[in-house]
Amino acid sequence: MASNSILVIGGGFSGLTAALEAAELGHEVFIVEKTPFLGGRVMQLNKYFPKLCPPSCGLEIQYQRIKNNPKVKFFTLAEVTKVNGAPGAYEVTVRIRPRHAGPNSPDLSGLCGELNAEVPNDFDFGLSTRKAVYMDAPFAFPQRYVVDKTALSSADKAKVQKCGYFDLNEEEKEITLNVGSIVIATGWKPYDVKKLTNLGAGEIENCITNMQMERLASPFGPTNGKILRPSDGNAPRKVAFVQCAGSRDENHLHYCSYICCMASLKQAQYVREQYPDAEVTIYYIDLRTPGRYENFARKILSDENVHAVKGKVAAVTRDKAGDDVWVIVEDAVSGAKSVERFDLVVLATGMQPSLADSPLPLDISMDAEGFIQDGGGKGIFAAGCAKQPLDVTKSAQSATGAAMQAIQTVRGR
Ligand code: SF4
Repeated sequence: MASNSILVIGGGFSGLTAALEAAELGHEVFIVEKTPFLGGRVMQLNKYFPKLCPPSCGLEIQYQRIKNNPKVKFFTLAEVTKVNGAPGAYEVTVRIRPRHAGPNSPDLSGLCGELNAEVPNDFDFGLSTRKAVYMDAPFAFPQRYVVDKTALSSADKAKVQKCGYFDLNEEEKEITLNVGSIVIATGWKPYDVKKLTNLGAGEIENCITNMQMERLASPFGPTNGKILRPSDGNAPRKVAFVQCAGSRDENHLHYCSYICCMASLKQAQYVREQYPDAEVTIYYIDLRTPGRYENFARKILSDENVHAVKGKVAAVTRDKAGDDVWVIVEDAVSGAKSVERFDLVVLATGMQPSLADSPLPLDISMDAEGFIQDGGGKGIFAAGCAKQPLDVTKSAQSATGAAMQAIQTVRGR
């Protein structure tokens, strides 16, 4: 059955942009998002380029546009399991996991405070724990709690049931959507730090990833925005950034992840703003600051407490006697090998497409790294970091392009 509707897979910044562009031109749009909330990776950042806004700033505008546009329908905790049909007439099967919570959440902070069991909080990349009833951030959208049944202790279960708002018996369901075109905006995930064995493999407490640094600096993160060492909660006075941690490496990601040089410069600024006497060293192979970002790089690097050292980090190790971290690096200019001690080390881990190890049930061509190469002839278009590493601005531009192509497909060109 021919359809003018468009499916957007992924509810991050690219997915929201594509959905809104298509809906505001009159098309019914379905967003299918696998996590409990929309917003994607941007939700986890402290600030993002180009204006260094907090995520609530750009996302709240998007959420408002979704609320005000009945053409956009979204499903969270949802995954596409089957796609049949052809361009102009796809039948898509979507599986929706239970949320166990009603549509309009009352203030449940009191109940959450009473729950005892805690599990590692994925949203904070393991830097904090969360309860079984949770929201990722105060500005999360939808403003609905979600229940993680696997994290409920029996005592907590009794409290949740007594509250009367939750339905712990809610079951998984399946729906069918008829759409004419599909936009894939499945985004990215941080490269698995456990694979970086020479850089501590995620085992050194004070050697964190750049996304963990975003959570430490976020006012809604585990330390309410104060950058503190995970091991002892002390303020770091000497911080190192290790660039290309997993990127441009034939044993890991073969490509440049595009965002991590700018991320480290931004995070150097976070450190320097909080600690006027802190020293920051950035170890890099190339410092890539495309276009207008060159000015930002110049500003950060003009700070006499920020040092950029051209050199490949060979290893990161834990101090035998304490919590400090040692960085072993060969200076690319002088050739000298140095071993430096730091309070905190940040690995500029790269960007891997989310589909790298969990492909969609769709006939699309992907490159060896998991980025989508093609699908245009089938009325299926990739947006944002599903296609290539991009920053938020370029992801939004890519999503607008994908939405226009999807519209051309359903309108018969
Ligand atoms: Fe390396 Fe910078 Fe490219 Fe990231 S953006 S992979 S740190 S050169």
